[in-house]
This record gives sequence, structure tokens and C-alpha cells, in this order.
Amino acid sequence: MPSYDLDDQVAIVTGAGRGIGRAIGHRLAREGARVLVTDINADSAAASAAEIAAAGGTADPLRVDVTRQAETDAMVATAVEAFGRVDILVNNAGIGMVAPLMDTDEASWDALMNVNAKGVLLCSQAAARQMIEQGEGGRIINNASGAGKIAPGKGVPLGAYAASKHAVVALTKQLGLELSDHQILVNCVCAGIVDTPMWELIDRETSRLQGIPAGSVVTAAVDSVPLGRIQQPEDVANMVAFLASTDAGYMTGQTYNVCGGLLPY
Ligand code: NAD
Repeated sequence: MPSYDLDDQVAIVTGAGRGIGRAIGHRLAREGARVLVTDINADSAAASAAEIAAAGGTADPLRVDVTRQAETDAMVATAVEAFGRVDILVNNAGIGMVAPLMDTDEASWDALMNVNAKGVLLCSQAAARQMIEQGEGGRIINNASGAGKIAPGKGVPLGAYAASKHAVVALTKQLGLELSDHQILVNCVCAGIVDTPMWELIDRETSRLQGIPAGSVVTAAVDSVPLGRIQQPEDVANMVAFLASTDAGYMTGQTYNVCGGLLPY
């Protein structure tokens, strides 16, 4: 059952074709929002939007690469054309990369930073311009990561990914301040070990680098979670729905952990 009333709200979710973004799109739609389901993979965006519609929600799909400004501007224009306005942007699109920092090449670094950091900036700028024009505030919710707050650890080859997610936390703090006069609230969520294709990649690549059996990296990671289970995409979507709601109306520029107790702060 819905817990937050997002009727009449219009949401854009990036990277919403699968994984956490898919769960966020579905949850916001169940709360009553009309959702633009965007992803660089057009087929997965279309499938996710169709599932929302089949469940009685309202959603349109759109192929968007968050690294290209023409596409992020067009994304907002499409939402306005389809649904009349934009109230909520969820910057969820992200990619993983598994390599020690000393082995991280320039092209991989650029690709990672373009999606995980620049994409957040471009989408936020486009959505915030629309929200400012509307003059009724708005919400920008960023999907950072626990890797945006702590170093991954000695022997954990996620340094560049962590740098990109620290950038998301910094963007959240500063955008929260810059947009506060417009009542556009900017917050971010830091998840732990979420059961999605991204963690399958991390497990596969880290196991290969360390010469250990596939599956052992994710097993060890989940063993370290105080609540004793792998995180589900819906655990993140729950927090995003709250941050989009009126109950979160006095919160901006903040970073919230949803991690089963994994993160120390
Ligand atoms: P995922 O790989 O399952 O899904 C990511 C989605 O983003 C895919 O649908 C992909 O097509 C899309 N995408 C990739 N590049 C894009 C681009 N340039 N433009 C638009 N869309 C693009 O990953 P996930 O685990 O669902 O992760 C979603 C977000 O959550 C990411 O930002 C990730 O860093 C973050 N996160 C994941 C975990 C985890 O354990 N899985 C933990 C913390 C944070």
C-alpha cells in the first residue's frame, strides 16, 4: 500500500530500466506519481514503463544517456510535454568499475566520472531550471553509495568508483545550498550491498583479480552486514519515496545511509 501521497507529482528517474532505478520508478508510480522512466537502454526503459502501466500506474519510457547534455535537456522537455511539469528528479544512473587505482586508465576514469558525476550535474541543472520556472520547489534525490563516504578498503578495487560517488555527495551538499532559495530540496542516499547486476559485476571482476571463486566476494560482503542479508532495490526505493514526500520537507543537502548497518557514519 502507498505510504506517501505523490498524486499530481511528476518524477524523472534515470537508469530506471533495471536494478535500483527500476524499483524506484515502480515505487514512485505506486505513490501516485507520473514517471518518466529513462535509461541508456531503450528496451529496458520501455519494459519497466510497461510494467508500471500494467500495474495501474502512469509511466512513459525514454532513452537517455545522462552524459550528453542535449539528451538530459530533452529528457526534461519530454517530461513537461508528456506530463506538464517536473517535481522530482532521481539521479540513479551509474556504472561500476573494478580496478585498483594504480591500474585505472584514463579512458575508464573518464567514462566512470562522466556517468556517475557529470550525469548528476547535467540532469540536475536541466530539472532545476524547470523547477525554478514552475516556482513551486522540487526534489532532487541522488543515488550515491556507501563508497561515497568511506574508502573501499585495502585490496578492494573500487577506488575510482568511490571517487565518483564522493563527487555525488559533494554535488548534493552544494546543490542543496544553491537551490535552497527555490525550495528545491537536494538529498542523497548511500546504499550498501544491493542485489543487482552491478554487484554481480563487482563480484565477478574482484574474484578474477584476486584469484578466488566467483561468488565469494559478495558472500563475504554480505557476511559483514549487521542486518545479515543482502540489500534489495526496494530498500533504497523506500528511502527515495520518503525523500520525495512532504514528510521530508525540512531536509536538504543531506546524505542518508540505507545499508543494513554496514556504514560506520
Ligand atoms: P545496474 O547496473 O543494475 O543499473 C544501472 C542502470 O543505469 C542500468 O539500467 C543502465 O543501463 C543505466 N545506465 C548506465 N549508464 C547510463 C547512462 N550513461 N545513462 C543512462 N543510464 C545509464 O546498477 P544498480 O545496482 O541498480 O545501481 C543503480 C545506482 O545505485 C548506481 O548509481 C549505483 O552506483 C548505485 N549503487 C548501487 C549499489 C549496489 O550495491 N548495487 C550500492 C550503492 C549504490
